Amino acid sequence: MLAEIDVAIIGAGVIGLATAHEIAQGEKEVFVFEKNRTFGLETSSRNSEVIHAGIYYPEDSLKAKLCVEGRSLLYKLCDRHDIAYKKLGKIIVAASENETAQLENLYEQGRKNGVEDLTLLSQTELKKLEPNVEARAGILSPSSGILDSHTLLKFLYSQAREKGTEFVFGTEVVGIERMGTKYRVEMRDREGISSVFSKVVINTAGLNSDRIAQLAGIDIAKAGYRLHYCKGEYFSLDSKYRNLVSRLIYPAPEQAGHGIHWRRGLDGRVLLGPSANYVEAIDYSVDETHKQYFYNSAKRFLPFIELEDLTPESAGIRPKLQGPGEGFRDFVITHEEKAGFPGLINLIGIESPGLTATPAIARYVGRMVDECFN
Ligand SMILES: Cc1cc2nc3c(=O)[nH]c(=O)nc-3n(C[C@H](O)[C@H](O)[C@H](O)COP(=O)(O)OP(=O)(O)OC[C@H]3O[C@@H](n4cnc5c(N)ncnc54)[C@H](O)[C@@H]3O)c2cc1C
Repeated sequence: MLAEIDVAIIGAGVIGLATAHEIAQGEKEVFVFEKNRTFGLETSSRNSEVIHAGIYYPEDSLKAKLCVEGRSLLYKLCDRHDIAYKKLGKIIVAASENETAQLENLYEQGRKNGVEDLTLLSQTELKKLEPNVEARAGILSPSSGILDSHTLLKFLYSQAREKGTEFVFGTEVVGIERMGTKYRVEMRDREGISSVFSKVVINTAGLNSDRIAQLAGIDIAKAGYRLHYCKGEYFSLDSKYRNLVSRLIYPAPEQAGHGIHWRRGLDGRVLLGPSANYVEAIDYSVDETHKQYFYNSAKRFLPFIELEDLTPESAGIRPKLQGPGEGFRDFVITHEEKAGFPGLINLIGIESPGLTATPAIARYVGRMVDECFN
């Protein structure tokens, strides 16, 4: 006889951990299956650690709503549980006239999304705040910040465990089959193949989440769930620059990302990045030949930097629903009941602002799980 559980979560990134933490509050038997040796080794530890305000996304999108809600929940969570963060504030800068018009649209978008503390800055106002930044105009977002995402991951993991969640590491989910009112979840570990029956399956498999949906029987081409990988590289800047700029500085956004930004971490180190290049395979190396591109992008608004002060640092890969040149795509967070898969909850395309939105996403999924048991 196969073991029977209530909820199987596939993937122990920040979203799987937060979801486990949320739903383990009840009496349910929750298991998290993770193919790596421990939690948080993929996108959740390869990002900018920025707590976004919620400016960029169309109003009423999940990205906008869950970012605004998640930001406020995340700051509270950090305060309550001693997770380090800094509300540094952020300035989105315009380096040209076109970009100045773009900023005005962004400002309006942010206000529509409920980000109420934004201020449009003239060149003089911006200079007063950040004398070393060169730009024609800016938007000040005081509620943007950075956090220690590793401590957040550890906190969510230990809390979920304390509440009874079982974590099974080194175990890759390789099959999902609907059988009666349950799913047979098949997995592979060092010992071979094994299975459990679960009433609810939550797919938080990040870069693999489209394939997990396909394994369960969803036609991902028809559903629009196929992911594109979009790589973001970072370069670090010499420590002599540390105190030249105090806020996060972002350019006007690009098509696939938020643009190469200046980010000073909690440890004071300064990073430039991430870039946005669509790639076919997952490879976290940083291509040193991209240094000139980073330099050119950042030099536009940070005139003091020198090429030789950039060093390749790290990279992450965005699980994007939006292919090259395509328009906005929202997070997919769906209970697939209507598609004929009651109890299957898919989270696909959880790119930025996924980290910020984490607590709000977990609540949203928690409500779906409650419906499955009512
Ligand atoms: C370059 C970059 C910068 C970013 N910057 C920010 C930022 O500043 N602020 C912000 O809010 N967001 C940011 N994000 C987005 C944020 O990092 C993600 O939204 C978030 O980390 C997604 O977490 P996740 O749990 O969905 O995915 P992941 O962390 O990728 O976790 C998925 C897990 O599923 C596991 N898995 C996959 N397949 C299987 C399987 N078959 N069986 C078992 N386990 C499996 C994987 O091993 C992995 O551990 C950034 C992303 C990138 C790439």
